[in-house]
Amino acid sequence: MEKIRMTTPLVEMDGDEMTRILWKMIKDQLLLPYIDLKTEYYDLGLMKRDETDDRITVEAANAALKYGVAVKCATITPNADRVKEYGLKEMWKSPNGTIRAIMDGTVFRSPIIVDGIEPAVRSWKKPITIARHAYGDVYRNAEIVIPGRGTAELVYTAEDGTVTREPIHTFEGSGIIQGWHNTDSSISSFAHSCFEYALDAKQDLWFATKDTISKKYDARFREIFDTVYHDEYEEKFKEAGIVYFYTLIDDVVARVMKSEGGFIWACKNYDGDVMSDMLSSAFGSLAMMTSVLVNPDGKYEFEAAHGTVQKHYYRHLNGEKTSTNSVATIYAWTGALRKRGQLDGIDALVHFADALERSVIRTIEEGEMTGDLALITTKKDITRLDSEGFILAVRKRLEEELNGI
Ligand code: NAP
Ligand code: MG
Repeated sequence: MEKIRMTTPLVEMDGDEMTRILWKMIKDQLLLPYIDLKTEYYDLGLMKRDETDDRITVEAANAALKYGVAVKCATITPNADRVKEYGLKEMWKSPNGTIRAIMDGTVFRSPIIVDGIEPAVRSWKKPITIARHAYGDVYRNAEIVIPGRGTAELVYTAEDGTVTREPIHTFEGSGIIQGWHNTDSSISSFAHSCFEYALDAKQDLWFATKDTISKKYDARFREIFDTVYHDEYEEKFKEAGIVYFYTLIDDVVARVMKSEGGFIWACKNYDGDVMSDMLSSAFGSLAMMTSVLVNPDGKYEFEAAHGTVQKHYYRHLNGEKTSTNSVATIYAWTGALRKRGQLDGIDALVHFADALERSVIRTIEEGEMTGDLALITTKKDITRLDSEGFILAVRKRLEEELNGI
């Protein structure tokens, strides 16, 4: 078979520990034999970040903006232990945080569904994707513990000195208060990312807040979503045959539990934090979750939702075989290759990504899986494979899939 040619490079962001080992295996076994892989390579491994005073992360994020599609390996976010372990000059910031700040995006996470790893909710047949607004609200709050009697107010001082006040509460005794904020521009970016993603996935978009109670704050989210929808997306949604649906957060939770899945659920920051953990555990495993950062101009960064699997890496360094699940990392690659193929009009690349995903699903459904899934599967007579064994088992199916095309 002739290798598939690419025109525009993918921005490749390498990472750390066990996922870095998987990264190389995936490239060697599942990509390089079939694709004339074009990437612009950035090593975001911790040593390289330290060596470049973290400039490499900024360069990688800017390259993602330039080329439009990136694929990222999990990376260490250093803490005090890591500073010692790697002898770092500084406790560098989270690469994901840096990339998110530069690309200004929303993170979309969806479960990878396979037969034999059953969702805890019986009605769920298709994946539910969570789109989490990643700015503001309780994550950028100001709080005061109120010691006793007194009056609390919200105060806004405009640039010209005009003051607006809103009473919060007159305390008769001790208590607590908290102030939140968000910005129109961040909410608007969030809305654009969600509408773009829904069009791309050809799935309905659900959004919910508590605007019956929060008549200004949550109502602002609803208004901005409405405006962006009517001004820019209504026609496109009609053409694509998909729906934008707004309701209350408690109503949406009830609907999600009774649904079949197959839609995108846009969540305010806190709702997204809580609901994505519920969703991923109800669907099975963090290693069976795709994760993609989408910016409002439609630039993409694909990654795995899990970390660098540090414990497995230390076992690997000890010469032990590990059984680390590479599915989320393989899907980061297929997501990026498919997107690159679509943008550049290279059908072979899109078909290859589809074939590789089918091979992964078949491998697991035919009973060959890594230890994390072996523990939770409802299948009998399964084979528990080590990290490399699983990738080779996928390769066997990939050969079949590609020969069948
Ligand atoms: P982790 O890498 O997600 O792993 C936590 C545990 O979850 C593992 O010990 C393992 O459980 C299980 N697990 C996660 N992914 C797995 C996989 N692919 N296959 C099999 N089991 C898997 O989290 P962590 O160990 O707390 O964090 C390690 C490093 O990752 C940290 O330095 C953190 O900063 C970084 N991190 C990076 C990202 C990112 O770049 N996106 C995200 C989160 C964390 P068992 O040990 O029970 O097998
Ligand atoms: Mg959380």
